[in-house]
Parts: sequence; C-alpha cells; structure tokens
Amino acid sequence: MTTLGSPETFKQQWLDGFVTAYGRTVRKVPDAYGVVRRAEPENPGKVAVVIGGGCGHYPAFAGLVGPGLADGAVVGDVFTSPSAEQVYRTARAADRGAGVLFGFGNYQGDVLHFGLAARRLAAEGVASRTILVTDDVASGPPSAPERRRGVAGDFLVFKIAGAAAERGYDLDAVHAVAAKANARTRTFGVAFGGCTLPGAGRPLFTVADEEMELGLGIHGEPGTRTVGRLSAAELADELVDGLLPELPEGDGRVVALLNGLGRTKYEEMFVTYTRVHERLAQAGVSPVHTEVGEFVTSLDMAGVSLSILVLDDELAELYADPCDTPGYRTSGVTLTTVEPESTVDGWSVDESPGTSVVDRVLTAGLRSIEEHEEELGRLDAVAADGDHGLGMTRGMRAAVAAARRAPDTVSGALLAAGTAFADAAGGASGALYGVLLAETGAGLNDLPAGEITTEVLADAVDGAVRAFTELGKAEPGDKTMLDAIEPFRITLREQVGGDVVQAWRKASAAAVTAADETAHLRPAKGRAARLAQRSEGHPDPGAVSFSLLVTAVGEELGKDEN
Ligand code: ADP
Ligand code: MG
Repeated sequence: MTTLGSPETFKQQWLDGFVTAYGRTVRKVPDAYGVVRRAEPENPGKVAVVIGGGCGHYPAFAGLVGPGLADGAVVGDVFTSPSAEQVYRTARAADRGAGVLFGFGNYQGDVLHFGLAARRLAAEGVASRTILVTDDVASGPPSAPERRRGVAGDFLVFKIAGAAAERGYDLDAVHAVAAKANARTRTFGVAFGGCTLPGAGRPLFTVADEEMELGLGIHGEPGTRTVGRLSAAELADELVDGLLPELPEGDGRVVALLNGLGRTKYEEMFVTYTRVHERLAQAGVSPVHTEVGEFVTSLDMAGVSLSILVLDDELAELYADPCDTPGYRTSGVTLTTVEPESTVDGWSVDESPGTSVVDRVLTAGLRSIEEHEEELGRLDAVAADGDHGLGMTRGMRAAVAAARRAPDTVSGALLAAGTAFADAAGGASGALYGVLLAETGAGLNDLPAGEITTEVLADAVDGAVRAFTELGKAEPGDKTMLDAIEPFRITLREQVGGDVVQAWRKASAAAVTAADETAHLRPAKGRAARLAQRSEGHPDPGAVSFSLLVTAVGEELGKDEN
C-alpha cells in the first residue's frame, strides 16, 4: 500500500493538517510537536491529563484531546516515542497548577522520555504522576503484568483518567482511578496483514493470504501464534477465548472495545462483533458500553483487537461521562444492558423444488445463475463494480423462496418472486429484473398454467418489457440486458399460434445469440457507461444473465414434453 507524505516530515505534515481541521477543539503547542485542548475547563484547577507516544496510531493520541478526555498529547515520529523535550513543552502548556497525569503505553522509549520530562517538571515545582498502560495479554505472563505492552486499552484508561480529571479529582486520585482502570483492562489482537511506514516500499511484516497472526503488537510487532484464515465467528471466538481467562473479577459489567488496526472495515468489525457479544453474554459478561471502530491503530495494518474493561460503580460512572475530541465524542448516555439484535434473513431456500411450474422454472434459473455466478461477476468487473453475479444469486434465491410461499397461481408466484428479487438483489439489475418478473406475472391475469397460450405469454412479455424500458430508459444498442430481451420478445411474438415450450426455446436461443453479440457494443447505460471502451469485446453481464435464465427455464419446461 502506498502512503502519502514523506518520511522525514510526516509528523509535522499531518499535525499541521490535524490542527487546521480540528482547530475548534485543539491547538498546537508553540514550538513543540504536541497539541492541547482549546477550551479551558470550567474548573481552573483541573489536573492536566497528558498522553502520547509515536504517531501512526490515530486517533490515539492527538485525536483524543478535548473536554472530558486528554488535555494534551505529545506526538513522536511514526512508532517512535516523543523526546523528553517535547513531552516537557506539551506538559507545561497543559498544566494549570494542579499537576500533570502522564498516560502512555508501556514502551521503553516512552518510559525514558516521559520520565526525564517528569524530573524536569518536578525540579520546576510541577507535580506529575504516570500511568503506564499494560493491557496486552499477548506480551507477557499474567504473573508479570508490568512487563506487558499498552495497546488499544490505552483508550479505555485515558477515558477514565480524563473523566476523573474533568470531575475535579486531585492528582493522586486521578492516578489511583487510572491505575485501577489499567488493572482491569485486557486486550487481545489478531492481524491479517502488516503495515507500511510512510515512504517505505514494503510492509514491516506480511501475513500470508491464508494466515492470521494472533497476539500482534501495534508497531508492526508480529504475533505470537500463526493460524489459518478464520471466519468472522472463529475470529470472535479467538478474541474472546484469549481474554476470558485473563479477566479480573467484577460484577459482570464491562466496556467492550473492538478496535480496528487501520485497514479493517467498520462493517467487518460489526460482523465480528455479533459473535463477540454472544460469547461474552454466555460467559456472564455484559457490555454496558460497546465501542466498535478505530481507537488505537497501527498505520494501515489489517486486523482487530478486543479490549475489555471490567467496571465497578466508579468506573462505570466515569466511563459514561461526556467528552468531545476529534476522534471520540459521547454525550454521556448510559444504557444498562443491550440484547444482541439479529437482522432476519427471510430468504432461505429449501433444497428440493416443489411441483408448481413457477417454482420449478425459477429453481432451474437459480441453479444456472449459481453455476455462472463467478463469470457474471467477472463480466461486470470489466467496466463496472463486479457485483452482478452475487446480486443475481441473492435475487434468484429470494425469488424462489418467495414463489414457494406465494399463492398457487402463476401470476401470484411471479409477482411475489419479482418483489422479492428486487428487494434482495438491489442494484440496477435488481429493480429491472424485479419489474420483468412481476409485470410478466401481472400480464398472465391469474390464468391457470394450462391455459397460458403463446399469445397470452407474448402479450405478458410485451407488457413487462414496456414497463422495463419505462423504468430503465435503455434503448436497443445501449449494451444492456435489453439487447438480449428485445430479440427474445420479438421471437416469442413471431411464434404466436405455436407450441408454448417450442416458442420459448426459440426465443431463448435468440437471446443467447444476442447476448453474445453485445460484446461488440459500447455501453451507454448503467455503471459501465463511464468506462465504455473497457468493455469492448466483452458481453454485457445483464444480457448474459438474462440469456442464462431464459435458457434454463426453457430446458425445465421441455422436461414436461418428453
Ligand atoms: P449495478 O449496475 O447496480 O451494479 P448489476 O451489476 O447487478 O447492477 O447489473 C448490471 C446490469 O444491469 C448491466 O449489465 C445491464 O445489463 C443492466 N442495466 C443497468 N442499467 C440498466 C438500464 N438503465 N436499463 C437496462 N439495463 C440496465
Ligand atoms: Mg454491478
């Protein structure tokens, strides 16, 4: 992955942009790589919470400065502790006379530099205390927690310290409650891919495609154990199993933090979270606050970590306090417990098709689409977004399931199938196929299957294609599925008076030929139109899926004749 910014000046460049963007909340410390909150607290004698470390972890650390959280953050180079001088200057800018609580992850460089700065402050009469965060269970034995690193648990500990300071706790009390939070926080992480330093040509470490690393660090330190690729549920199990034995005693209330390391999608984290929540609930652990997102990242590392803070009354109250920082805001609302929610999947298909003709032909269509799903996706990816195969499978599964539940007429089943298809498939083709199915159903006027002649069918298809073009506004030659649909419709019309199945099969043959020929057309509608020249030589995915469907339907209908 390429990175923007040059290695020498990265720290300065991003910090400039950061204070420009969030000048409402933070301001730069003059002559230092550090920021402090802009709004002075209501309590002028408030303890200053100053956090820090190297950069590359955004929103940690500078993104966590603001009312209710940190008063200041010192910014080091990428993955490198800031110097004592920078710590000192930032602490001086943040101090209001009530002393400074330093908070940072347990790394040698940070310990030394923050320590030197604390001595210099003491010599000048500024009191300070330090909280070293040691939440990472993979970095040391439970018997020696002081040897463990600080990872995403940094956020949880800083949140508690920030809230306590905002409430007016004195320095020793802020330190004590932060130390309690740290003692009750544990984190376990999994990486799927390494991270790349700004300006570097290759990642610090790599994870093979088929592997995941358990117990990674946040500076490109590889994991402690390599496993095969996990599903979202298996990943959740690893995370929870890694933490449960380590959790300190509590009353069951916790904060659960599922943290993205920089390259993992929020949606993927939510997929994982469902199982995390279930597993915690089974173990009698209930998250009264859940955070899913990026809190302590590691440049562009792919992966997630799970942190648990075991609450008591004091920690629960402090965690719920409001704060307002560039990276995290909360209004201070508490929920007691949250029941896991699940979104219904209404479209599961039984394996064996029923006997109604619509059920049989749609199931045949579904099988053909499933077989060609990858190919349809590839065709759609030539000049568009590559989702046509997946969308069609989703749509057809829903269509089949709905037809099986629908009233036992051809019209009723097609109508239900069309609605379900559009709902489940989404996208342009979802809406368009939905209309084709439903309007064909409507055009059949509730006739019993045995009374559907070629003429009735041709009329119904005419009506459906009319509705289709009204909706999609495509013209023949625009390189859409219409270029397979029109030849189908015309051929069917030409067969009026003949046998229905024969007519259908001739019409599908015309659709197949026409779909192939779309390779020579340039797309004028749909997503592909923007990259029209790319698609030359490749048939239109919608035209191909249409020809596959009508062919499968024709073959299924033909079985009755033999
Ligand atoms: P999306 O374009 O929303 O990603 P799909 O990839 O599932 O949807 O479907 C793409 C196909 O939809 C195209 O290949 C084309 O055949 C068809 N299509 C898109 N827009 C139109 C339109 N306005 N009229 C007719 N067909 C269209
Ligand atoms: Mg598409």
